[in-house]
This record gives sequence, structure tokens and C-alpha cells, in this order.
Amino acid sequence: MTKKKYNFKEALYLIEILRGLGVTIKHFFVRKKFAINYPEETLHIVGNTQQTMKVMDKDAQKLIDRMEVTMNYRGKHALLVDGDLGRCVACKMCETVCPFFAIYIEPEESPDPRKERSPRIFEVDLTRCAYCGYCVEACPENAITMTSFYSLVARQRPELSIQKKELRTVIK
Ligand code: SF4
Ligand code: SF4
Repeated sequence: MTKKKYNFKEALYLIEILRGLGVTIKHFFVRKKFAINYPEETLHIVGNTQQTMKVMDKDAQKLIDRMEVTMNYRGKHALLVDGDLGRCVACKMCETVCPFFAIYIEPEESPDPRKERSPRIFEVDLTRCAYCGYCVEACPENAITMTSFYSLVARQRPELSIQKKELRTVIK
């Protein structure tokens, strides 16, 4: 293979240097934002989970409308409710399928006459969770979902172990 011979203009690299500078200057003046200054800035949470922001993170009101979490983002879990009663029938399918033992459920007799059991304890340990979504897929009642809430910050590990009450307040 023969080596390419540069002419005088190319050998100076002047045009390429100017072209490179042009790109730099363009980006300097025409700024397209790809990063946010988290936690001062937060992403706009899409769909139902806008409520998540209001319920769970009152400080995170500075939403950036043009930057959104994608619709299929797998963030913090939520238990869906019909009226005041949860959909979960404490069948433990999600607990069984979870590869990281992140879910713990203790059933009790349901106050809802339409079903036998409901969870007395429903706990998701987010420090174990890999956000694979298996629990959501396994649920026969569409009772558990994953929200686009991504701001999972805590000072101590137990704070990332979320309980039934908190899981239910995410989406109504
Ligand atoms: S998302 Fe995956 S790892 Fe997390 S609780 Fe559900 S099944 Fe377990
Ligand atoms: S969330 Fe779904 S899979 Fe898990 S215990 Fe409740 S009904 Fe069963």
C-alpha cells in the first residue's frame, strides 16, 4: 500500500485546523444540552409518574421540560390501586421470580371480599434490585409496575427498602 502524498495545502493542515475550530466555535455558541446539573436540575418525569414527583420529592420541582425520562424507563416500583384497595393478591409470584430476592411479602386476609389475600407486608429492597422488570412481567394482576422515578438517593440503606404504604402512594 502506497502512502498518500499531501499537497502543500494539505501538509499545512490549515484548512483542517480551521474546520475543527469552526466546530468548536459552533458548539460554544449553539449549545445543545446533553447533561444536567443533578441534583439541582432534574429530568421531567413522564406519564402518571408526574405524581411521583409531587408525592415523593417535593424539592424536585425544577423540571426540565425538554429533557424527559423515556416512557419505558424502569425506575422505582409502584403498587397499583383500584380505589382504596390494592390490586395485589399476595400470590408471591413477583417474590418468587425475582433473581435477587429483592421482594419480601407477607400475606393476610384481604379486606376486599373479591379476593382471599392481600399483602400485610410488601417490601422492595432497592439496594438488591437490578431493575430487570421480571416482577412486573410475572404479576398476574398487573398490580406492580415500575415508574420513571429515578432519583433513588438515601443516606442509609434502610431508606432504600420501600414498604407497601410508600409503594402505593406512588401512583393512584
Ligand atoms: S425489577 Fe427484577 S430485581 Fe428488581 S424487584 Fe423486580 S424482579 Fe427483582
Ligand atoms: S404484586 Fe402481583 S405477583 Fe406480586 S404478590 Fe401481588 S399480585 Fe402477586
